[in-house]
Amino acid sequence: MREILHVQVGQCGNQVGTKFWETISEEHGLDTEGTYRGDKDVQLERLNVYFAETTNGANKYVPRAILVDLEPGTMDSIRSGPLGHLFRPDNFVFGQSGAGNNWAKGHYTEGAELVDEIMDVVRKESEACDCLQGFQLTHSLGGGTGSGLGTLLISKLKEEFPDRIISSFGVIPSPKVSDTVVEPYNATLSIHQLLESTDEVFCIDNEALYDICFRTLKIASPSYKDLNHIVSQTMSGLTTCLRFPGQLNADLRKLAVNMVPFPRLHFFMPGYAPLCSPASKAYENLTVAELTNQLFDARNMMTACDPRQGKYLTVATIFRGRLSMKEVDETMLAAQNKHSPLFVEWIPNNIKVAVCDIPPTGLAMSATFIGNSTAMQQVFKRITDNFATMFRRKAYIHWYTGEGMDELEFTEAESDIHDLIAEYQQYQDAVNEPEFGDSYAEGDEETEGSYAEEIKEKKEVAQEKVDPNITTGGDANNNVVA
Ligand code: GDP
Repeated sequence: MREILHVQVGQCGNQVGTKFWETISEEHGLDTEGTYRGDKDVQLERLNVYFAETTNGANKYVPRAILVDLEPGTMDSIRSGPLGHLFRPDNFVFGQSGAGNNWAKGHYTEGAELVDEIMDVVRKESEACDCLQGFQLTHSLGGGTGSGLGTLLISKLKEEFPDRIISSFGVIPSPKVSDTVVEPYNATLSIHQLLESTDEVFCIDNEALYDICFRTLKIASPSYKDLNHIVSQTMSGLTTCLRFPGQLNADLRKLAVNMVPFPRLHFFMPGYAPLCSPASKAYENLTVAELTNQLFDARNMMTACDPRQGKYLTVATIFRGRLSMKEVDETMLAAQNKHSPLFVEWIPNNIKVAVCDIPPTGLAMSATFIGNSTAMQQVFKRITDNFATMFRRKAYIHWYTGEGMDELEFTEAESDIHDLIAEYQQYQDAVNEPEFGDSYAEGDEETEGSYAEEIKEKKEVAQEKVDPNITTGGDANNNVVA
């Protein structure tokens, strides 16, 4: 048995997480109380990865899930909702204060007060495991709790369980969905932490979810419910190989080994097919070829970036349903040939295909995509550009320094993500296998005058920014002309 412990943090984390549990419970034949009502052995075979069998009655299972928030609202609605009895009551851990979309409150002040209590529950759950493989978190990166406390928790998990895999389903903010102005700050600070402390991050970008709802599903004003429906379908797809029998990417570590050629580049672009509006669902009669076509389409990606502008380092796909293995293999081979310029040539066999014969509920077949693409830099650029626009004027910084945070942490986070962007670019440009230890920031021949140079300059400027002589001016510096 190789168990995964799930932690959902903050409003988004809890809403997305609960939808995930609803979806996978159904796939494994569990009703909303956790009682097994299914009729297929395959539903039970690896049920233990995500669910624990309860001791007080046969056939009853409980999610290995911990629900965390700094305010009671979202968790109250989960408890009074249809899945209210699914989760272990002791595993709801919450505060009263809220984080007010302030990463510093989640990470340093309010969140820090709750983190020990959460770790107690984590410890208890992990002791109940036979051989814990790792953790998965669902959280938003743009708010205060999921992002601030979520990443604090991740650092504690890494400290206490250094040899377990830590994965995150991180929801990336978009102004199309939320109008909170400080989200680029919170997201940048979070990504800085996720770079350091996680092994794999499935990036769920609200910008992409919104576009899918609006453009593909023709929903005029998408709600979180609409967005989360797509997220849960995708998460169900992404975790298929962890939950059902099979060989490929069957645990979090194997997935990381296959997908992450360089430790920092562990931010994945998930994709899903079919994406169809509820109205047209009944008319969809998909073939493997159509699924595969959709799977490589930028419009089916859960991150708002165009894979055609980058290169895939690695890709994993998961087909579900009663499909001919031969047909899947042939179609994927054809797709791979067609898209071969999009794959780095210096990692052979960098596309993996798994087939699971259990389709998701309500569909005959589906396919899920996990791409490690250098095009991810587009998402990070979007976030850091918005970060820079505000940070240049030190706008809203007092909310963070007021919680005891040092401005230097902003500068470091920004520069870390600029480095990441430069790394993506370096591997995108690399024609032959790059040398290990290549440093993008050294200003060597290949990178001179390039983005790396720009980063270096920015770093120097950033250092100047935190020069005490400049900052002692306090708020007056809001007028500093960049
Ligand atoms: P927290 O409770 O302090 O962690 O704050 P939130 O989770 O509400 O974080 C705000 C960010 O999460 C914004 O970018 C919102 O657009 C996003 N968000 C909030 N709820 C949901 C949700 O249910 N689904 C999705 N996809 N995004 C959400």
